[in-house]
Amino acid sequence: MAKLSPFDVVALRREFPILQQHVNGKLLAFLDSGASSQKPRQVIECLDDYYRRYNANVHRGVYKLSEEATFAFERARGKVARFIGAAHKREVVFTRNTTEAINLVAYAWGGANIRAGDRILLTLMEHHSNIVPWQMLAQRTGAKLDYIGLTDEGRLDLAELDTKLTEGVKLLAVTQQSNVLGTVNPIAMLAERAHAVGAKILVDGAQSVPHMPVDVRALGIDFLAFSGHKMCAPTGIGALWARREILESMPPFMGGGSMIELVERDHSTYAEVPTRFEAGTPAIGEAIALGAACDYLANVGMEAIHTYEQELLGYALDRLASVEGLRIIGPQSMEERGAALSFTLEGVHPHDVAGILDGEGVAVRAGHHCTQPLHRHYDIPASTRASFYIYNLPEEVDRLTVGLEKARKLFS
Ligand code: PLP
Repeated sequence: MAKLSPFDVVALRREFPILQQHVNGKLLAFLDSGASSQKPRQVIECLDDYYRRYNANVHRGVYKLSEEATFAFERARGKVARFIGAAHKREVVFTRNTTEAINLVAYAWGGANIRAGDRILLTLMEHHSNIVPWQMLAQRTGAKLDYIGLTDEGRLDLAELDTKLTEGVKLLAVTQQSNVLGTVNPIAMLAERAHAVGAKILVDGAQSVPHMPVDVRALGIDFLAFSGHKMCAPTGIGALWARREILESMPPFMGGGSMIELVERDHSTYAEVPTRFEAGTPAIGEAIALGAACDYLANVGMEAIHTYEQELLGYALDRLASVEGLRIIGPQSMEERGAALSFTLEGVHPHDVAGILDGEGVAVRAGHHCTQPLHRHYDIPASTRASFYIYNLPEEVDRLTVGLEKARKLFS
C-alpha cells in the first residue's frame, strides 16, 4: 500500500525523535498510542524552552519571568479552548489527565447535584476512569448506577435508551470513542436525549480529541474530559471543559493556594472559574506544551488526521482478516469506528502475543485495558490492542501481521 494521503507521513515521522530508534534490533513500530502517544520535536522543544528560559511560578510573581510564564500558560488555555471549539477559555480547567477531570466533576458537580435515588447512566464500554469515580459518588450519596449494554458487534445497544435514559437520570457519562472496541458513539444524539430527560452529559474524550475534530458546542454536551499525553503533549496535563454556567455553579474540588479570593481563619471565599478548580502550582511547562501540541495537530489538520487514520484502519482490518484464529473485539466495519483494534488470537495468551511482537520491534498493549466490565461482557479475560496514530505506516501493519503469524505458528 503505497498511498499515504492526505499528508506526507514519512516526513511527519522525522518530527518524532523516538520513532528513529531500534528495539530488539528492529526499527520501532509503535502501535500503542491509545495508551500514550509519542511527542513531536515542536512539543519537546517547547517544554525544554520553558525550563531553560522562563521557568517561574504563574499568577504570583511581579517579575519578568513569572509574567512570561503566566502569559504562556494562559495563552495555552486559549489554544486548548479553540482546539475543542469552546465558547471561552475560562471554560477550560487544566487537570492532570482525563481521570482527574472526571473525578473533579464527580466530586464538585456530583456532590452538589446528586442525591439518594438519582440515577447515573454509564455504558459497558467505559474505561475505569469513567466508572470508578461514579461508583464512589453513588456510594457517598445513595445514587444508583446503570449501564447501557453493548451489541455483539461492539456498539452501544441504543434500543436500551428508551428504558434506561429516562426521568430520574441526572447524568449520562459516556466515552466518545472506546479505547478497546474503537467504536465511536453518536454523542450529539445522546446529548439531545440526555437533555430531553433533564440529565447532563459528560463525554470522555481521551480517545477522540487526539484523533478527530471535536467541537463541544456542535456536540451540545455539558462536560468533556481529555488527556494531553494521548495527543502529542507531555504527561501530567489534561483538561476539563464544562459549559460556563455549569462550571460557575460548581463548588471547588481541592482547596489550597491559587483557588481562593480571601482566606479568613475559619472560612474562605473562592476565586472565579477556572482558577477555583486549579489549587496549588499547576503543571506549567506541560500546559504550555499542551498548547504547542494543539498547534501542531491543528496545523496537520484534524480532518486530515482522521482521514489518514481511517485509511490505515481499513488496511489493518483487511490484513488482520488474513490471520487465522484472530478475532477482532469491536466493529469489523469502518463505519463510526476509530483506529484502535483489539483482538484475541486463538490458543495464544495476549501477553505472549505482545511479547513476541516486542521481539519484532512492534509495541502493542495486552491486558484488560482498564475495561474489566467490557471484557467480562464479552467473556474474555484479556485482549491484545494495536492502536494507530498519525505517524504509523502501512508497513507497520504488515509487520504486525507477520508477527501475529509467527505467534500463531509458535503456539499451535
Ligand atoms: N478514558 C479512556 C477512554 C482512556 O482510553 C483512558 C486512558 O487510556 C482514560 C480515560 C484515562 O486517561 P488518563 O490515564 O490519562 O487519565
